[in-house]
Amino acid sequence: TATKLGCTVTVVGKGSIPMLRPLGQQLAEDVQRRNEAHGVTFISNACLVEILADEAGDRVTGVVLDNGQNISCDVVIEALGSLPNTEFLLNNDIDIESGVHVDETLHALRENGEPWDNVYAIGDVARFPIPQFDPKTRRVEHWNIPTEMARKVGKLVALAHGDDRDAHAAELEKPFAPIPSFWSDQFEVSLLAYGLLDQGDDIRLLEGDVGGDCIYGYFTGDAMVGVCGIGMRSKVMGYRNKVGLNFAQ
Ligand SMILES: Cc1cc2nc3c(=O)[nH]c(=O)nc-3n(C[C@H](O)[C@H](O)[C@H](O)COP(=O)(O)OP(=O)(O)OC[C@H]3O[C@@H](n4cnc5c(N)ncnc54)[C@H](O)[C@@H]3O)c2cc1C
Repeated sequence: TATKLGCTVTVVGKGSIPMLRPLGQQLAEDVQRRNEAHGVTFISNACLVEILADEAGDRVTGVVLDNGQNISCDVVIEALGSLPNTEFLLNNDIDIESGVHVDETLHALRENGEPWDNVYAIGDVARFPIPQFDPKTRRVEHWNIPTEMARKVGKLVALAHGDDRDAHAAELEKPFAPIPSFWSDQFEVSLLAYGLLDQGDDIRLLEGDVGGDCIYGYFTGDAMVGVCGIGMRSKVMGYRNKVGLNFAQ
């Protein structure tokens, strides 16, 4: 990490704690505390309004925040989120509101909601339903999604061009139903998560101790919609198939 290489690191964020939405209050606070223990400074509820440069305009010298604070620095790393780049699809009768809207078999949808037979979208740009969770469509920007989507679409395209009509029809009946997952390594902290953590309104410690290795479950009623562990990797993986069960309304 930059801190381990001897750099002074300051994290500036608009929210009260970093990663609050994906992790929830308890775990986000825990991750912040662990980073602070390694010397990382956090400035919350603040936005960057200006990047300062040297006289020649060649090098960054600092940043100005909307709370008036001025921080000297040599490097600025932006992490502002992403916007789907769909302009090239304009005027093609494809619903491109907030990404390319696809159905449960990843066929792109026309503006009237009908699927195209031969147009698919996969990866970060695709806005898709996850049937075992809820009827909403969402973009999920995690590595496992484009990989699993590519597998599904590859199979559909191959079957569509093959002779086995029944196999193609059967594959069309199977909705794409991934368990979103992400991991992150920060100092000694190794996070692994499955599901849609931000959908949980009740976060429970399932195993381990707060501040040590532990696993949190994210629930809506009795349904576990997500699980996230610090350490305990194999145990977290054991929860994977329990996530999203019985949640579909
Ligand atoms: C800094 C960062 C850290 C991340 N860390 C993690 C992580 O720890 N774990 C995790 O699960 N996920 C992580 N992600 C998310 C993960 O990288 C993405 O979900 C994944 O790369 C999406 O793959 P993709 O193929 O859909 O899109 P991309 O990898 O973005 O590939 C899209 C490609 O399409 C090209 N392209 C765009 N427009 C056009 C066009 N008009 N014509 C031709 N080509 C075009 C782009 O140049 C790009 O090469 C991270 C992302 C970022 C940015």
